[in-house]
Amino acid sequence: MAQFVYDLVVIGSGPGGYIAAIRAAQLGMQVACVEKDSTLGGTCLNIGCIPSKALLESSERYYALTHQLPAHGIVVGNVQLDLAKLLARKDTVVKTVTRGVEGLFKKHKITWVRGTARVAAADRVEVSVSGGGGAAAGQKTESLATKRILIATGSVPIELPIAPFDGERIISSTEALALPAVPKRMIVVGGGAIGLEMGSVWSRLGAEVLVIEMLDRIVPGMDSQMGKLLQRALEKQGLRIALRTTLRKAVKTADGVTVTIASGDTEREDRCDVLLVGVGRRPYTENLGLAEAGVRLDDRGRIAVDPHFATNVPGIYAIGDVTAGLMLAHKAEEEGVAAVELMAGMPGHVNYDAIPNVVYTHPEFASVGLSEDECKQRGLEVRIGTFPFAANGRAKGMGETEGQVKVIADAVTDRVLGVHIVGPHASDVIAEAALAMEFSASAEDIGRSVHAHPTLAEALKEAALAVDGRPLNL
Ligand code: FAD
Repeated sequence: MAQFVYDLVVIGSGPGGYIAAIRAAQLGMQVACVEKDSTLGGTCLNIGCIPSKALLESSERYYALTHQLPAHGIVVGNVQLDLAKLLARKDTVVKTVTRGVEGLFKKHKITWVRGTARVAAADRVEVSVSGGGGAAAGQKTESLATKRILIATGSVPIELPIAPFDGERIISSTEALALPAVPKRMIVVGGGAIGLEMGSVWSRLGAEVLVIEMLDRIVPGMDSQMGKLLQRALEKQGLRIALRTTLRKAVKTADGVTVTIASGDTEREDRCDVLLVGVGRRPYTENLGLAEAGVRLDDRGRIAVDPHFATNVPGIYAIGDVTAGLMLAHKAEEEGVAAVELMAGMPGHVNYDAIPNVVYTHPEFASVGLSEDECKQRGLEVRIGTFPFAANGRAKGMGETEGQVKVIADAVTDRVLGVHIVGPHASDVIAEAALAMEFSASAEDIGRSVHAHPTLAEALKEAALAVDGRPLNL
């Protein structure tokens, strides 16, 4: 009997892979998605975006009880932390969303093949079955014939040779999502989004947290002036941040880790119960058979693709963290949709100039488009408008007046080039800016749009008006 031939086999069920599988099914393709983990959803749903945001939410509420509610005239008595319950809630959230993807696969008749995939040829994927149920239960390897392969195998944390992960004392973000007790003292290596978010969680729950960052600024890649605002706000909350500081040595002891850290020419020793290494992630291409299949990688080990997400081998495509660009869930998702639409002969497209990027600290830092630093590097002539949340009525009512909105527009055309927000619910307010940029809006377009009052989004409108030197409430 002739073997069934899929239209598309997706390798990896993260936001890139599972969204691509759904879009392909919507377009009438017969789709299989191979996932080596026991649940669907990849890094994002299992050990990334979703659990980290669940913990940020819980820890923020805990922190608010003691640090923010008194200012609202609410006096709370004996506040207690039930860490086990807090973590269990996070696990329930994860279970709900990963099961949700299972449901979506069933709805769209996508075959979930449980096991580890290897590209055997441009039209064949071999799956080593990891056990359990699923389409391939009971077999050691399964061979899937397919017209196309989409690789969406994502990324894994970068390990430092001087501080290899042991999962207990020297940990990655994965273990930081499930510490069995609040550490007394935590050192975080890396002042990027993951380090600051996980550092915030444990700091709010009572840990003394020191973040060390080798560069002269936190959140590298985002607007540096706004980064300074965020740093000041986090330091006020008790997070200690040491810039131009590197980890030189980490030695495990009976009850923690002794570290040697260097700032300029000075070296000093410090200790912590837990050392969280959050220095970034690397593309995951292990055991995929890419070299044998002739799939080219770039100089940083990422799968090289053309603007249609095609690799150099016809029929093999790649998207998400395993390819170049920002390592973000929504970037992976949009690439998944565009890749599949292009396969179907549609005009799929990702606008890389309008991808929002958010750090979910408190306040949040959200941005889209070019930073002021990038505009300077490119020699662009710009006009900049800012508006502080301290002058926004809604923020005042909330008692969340830290931060500001910054709108950067082209000096000649007034087209919005970038928007940066440090402030309450910045992750939601940035959506308007991303939409404005998607439609090539000018700062004046935003300034003339009617915004509901009182809302945080009015700060964006005011910052847009400030580009022309005419904010109304400042
Ligand atoms: P992944 O989500 O990494 O999925 C890849 C999948 O492929 C995995 O399930 C893996 O098991 C599977 N796989 C790999 N190899 C094989 C194989 N050979 N066979 C079968 N299966 C295989 N991004 C945001 O946008 N917002 C956030 O708030 C955010 N927070 C984060 C917080 C943390 C702590 C972390 C770690 C990341 C966070 N990210 C966030 C980043 C986000 O999780 C990633 O950008 C996103 O998951 C990438 O999606 P992907 O589909 O490319 O790969």
